[in-house]
Amino acid sequence: MHDWIKTVPKAVLHDHLDGGLRVETLIELANEQNYPNLPSTNHDELKKWIQPKPDKSLAINLEAWEHTIGVMQDKDSIYRVTTEALEDLSNDGVVYAELRFAPLVHTFKGLTTGEVVDSVVNGIKDGMEKYDIVAGVILCAMRQEQNSLEVVNLCIEHNDVIGFDLAGPEVGFSVLNHSEACSLAVENNINVTLHADWEVAEGIKEVVIDSKAKRVGHGSQIINDIAFNNGEVTFQNTAAQYVFDNNIALEICPTSNVQCGAYSDVSEHSFGELFNAGFNVTINTDNRLMSDITMSEEVNNVVESFGLDEKDILGITKNTIEAGFVKPELKNKALKKLS
Ligand SMILES: [Zn+2]
Repeated sequence: MHDWIKTVPKAVLHDHLDGGLRVETLIELANEQNYPNLPSTNHDELKKWIQPKPDKSLAINLEAWEHTIGVMQDKDSIYRVTTEALEDLSNDGVVYAELRFAPLVHTFKGLTTGEVVDSVVNGIKDGMEKYDIVAGVILCAMRQEQNSLEVVNLCIEHNDVIGFDLAGPEVGFSVLNHSEACSLAVENNINVTLHADWEVAEGIKEVVIDSKAKRVGHGSQIINDIAFNNGEVTFQNTAAQYVFDNNIALEICPTSNVQCGAYSDVSEHSFGELFNAGFNVTINTDNRLMSDITMSEEVNNVVESFGLDEKDILGITKNTIEAGFVKPELKNKALKKLS
């Protein structure tokens, strides 16, 4: 890895809280809680079990979430995972981080949804202070469920929550099924970013035009909606043009995309072409634990694949923070770290 990558200020917009635990924390929490279901309580064995398997088309181990969510069912555990995420990101040179998670799946041991959200918000507040990082939390509803309105209402009730997202499977589960929730969010000035991965061609339009999202989770498939004419980018549809003209940030997660089978290698990812075309591309980890990736490694992969330099990454970090959902004064605090 290039020496400067670890220290250059980095920013991440798309990092799932329940996909970023430390392996040792997962084991310790399981032990404390007498959680019986972990496949192993040995660090190396468990890490190996969770790790992406390169020989599968869908390499990310979806079963691992059952366990990370399984041990995040009380206030202390949720708080611990949140503060540790900020510690790890800060140690990795990340100056701005947005974490996201689905609050409704953390109530199986009796926490109220409000308590769940407060546990993360408290972790963010304390972690920001302790680890000198600017951070915020986005609440996710799941596309395959019917409770997105409840999640938007949690965003409205909790002033410290910075945004709303829809995650989960996309094929057969359109965001348009959640138009009431997205409208409610927009009407209440809740920032909206929605997952639109590569499998659904109309995903970008549904997200930015129909649902008025300010950012796109993933979004790398927009490469299919543009063409290059003598070096000039041209647009095949109004959604792609809209994303470009409005500088809508794409929360690109290169490693996660490769592991899910969208690209054979980061060097094949559309990131490079989108960056060169002038799209507002950001670099994101998605799930640090499940993908076995750090932000520095993610940035390094992009740098090596597309020949970017420190100035390019600083520019991306600046754009990323500017696309962030935290309050302006906090954004400025993070931006000051770039000078
Ligand atoms: Zn995601």
